[in-house]
Amino acid sequence: EKLEVTPSEVITKLISLGIMANQNQSVDFDTASIIAEEFGISIKKSSVEEDDEEIGFHLDFEDDPKDLKPRPPIVTVMGHVDHGKTSLLDAIRKTAVTEREAGGITQHIGASTINIDGEKIVFLDTPGHEAFTTMRARGAQVTDIAILVVAADDGVMPQTVEAINHAKAANVPIIVAINKMDKPAANPDRIKQELVEYGLVPEDWGGDTICVPVSARNEEGIDDVLEMILLVAEMQELKANPNRKAVGIIVEAELDKGRGPVATVLVQKGTLKVGDIVVSGTAHGRVRAMLNDKGKRVKKATPSIPVMILGLSEVPEAGEHLYVVENEKKARNYTQARKEKIREEQLKSSQKVSLDDLFEKIQLGEVKELNVIIKADVKGSVEAVKQSLSKLETDEVRVNVIHGGVGGITESDVMLASASNAIIIGFNVRPTLTAIDISKRESVDIRTYRVIYDAIEDIESAMRGLLDPTI
Ligand code: GDP
Repeated sequence: EKLEVTPSEVITKLISLGIMANQNQSVDFDTASIIAEEFGISIKKSSVEEDDEEIGFHLDFEDDPKDLKPRPPIVTVMGHVDHGKTSLLDAIRKTAVTEREAGGITQHIGASTINIDGEKIVFLDTPGHEAFTTMRARGAQVTDIAILVVAADDGVMPQTVEAINHAKAANVPIIVAINKMDKPAANPDRIKQELVEYGLVPEDWGGDTICVPVSARNEEGIDDVLEMILLVAEMQELKANPNRKAVGIIVEAELDKGRGPVATVLVQKGTLKVGDIVVSGTAHGRVRAMLNDKGKRVKKATPSIPVMILGLSEVPEAGEHLYVVENEKKARNYTQARKEKIREEQLKSSQKVSLDDLFEKIQLGEVKELNVIIKADVKGSVEAVKQSLSKLETDEVRVNVIHGGVGGITESDVMLASASNAIIIGFNVRPTLTAIDISKRESVDIRTYRVIYDAIEDIESAMRGLLDPTI
């Protein structure tokens, strides 16, 4: 069409070149350019064609600020076991359902949306910082706000501290829900006192941490929590451009016997529609149907809204990005490129910081901060190491203790280290078997010591390039 010649003229030329082509066949660029020359026209590869080769790296572009529209906040509930995370989520859903959309039945898709006076809030269904940090270790951060549940009759416990440090490492603002206020032993002032020790100073004490007293059991204070979420969200100015090809993150995925691979996507930018061609990791496909968290079929999903999608070629991994692409060809190119990228990333994970090559990385300017997680058998050791480490700081390297706690080295510590490129130091504690396995996979350096002095000496030597290599 562009050459303004008929197909048969093109075919005649092709045959004269020895290419027995028919009308529905495509030819490579070189052949096309020779034929075009024959008709007196010179052609150039279009940028679209070039883009194809690198497609995986062009799908996520920055939006023009003027195209950005407010989007609902995405919230994760965290806290110590039995402090009431699940109960709080249930109470929130119940309040929202009974008040605004009676009869709505929640479908488990990994995240749920609630409506409050015309505004939406999205909750991730899996409470706890573990899931949150696992996603982050894979490069996906979906949480905008963390709700930290602390039982008013119990206080700040080890997993409360973990949750605080995991949220802080991710730069996610924390709203504290002081739960079980119905219990006679509830003592919110003591909780606030303990929170201060971990850098969370309540607003009514002059700090900027919002604390809301609640009773998940009696459904009291729930509206206040929701109101505070909306307030914090407003301050964060959460925005996304809804008018572009969608980019999302897989929060859950599985193989369903009847429906094939199903995946829950949280849309981050753009609008995801039924019929869109999508790619995610090495999976691709056309969105055949979408279900919202009420189990209802929907045609599109805007930013922050979770939907379960059907139609993928395989089950993608949680934490993978999902992109909408123009056509099947691009989808194929992407999955190919992604396979190579995954291989590269695996190589790269061995480039995480470790004491063995710390000095080299400092010299190359690759490491400017050494993130450390300290686990010990007693609280005193954690504090002692923190203090000694801060004295090791030089002009080139800052030392950050991103988490310190009492107890063995767990899977959750390793994932936090992986997500934050940290090393783990243990005193008189050992890693669990799972933690060891995962540390190998994630290339996280774990060092255990019996004497604090030895640890400090090792880190100091590593920073100066004097550490004896480990065998
Ligand atoms: P999770 O482990 O943090 O998810 O905690 P759960 O939501 O499973 O709650 C643990 C226990 O605390 C359950 O027995 C709940 O019934 C109870 N619980 C949760 N919230 C409240 C509350 O506000 N008041 C009282 N009295 N009990 C609560």
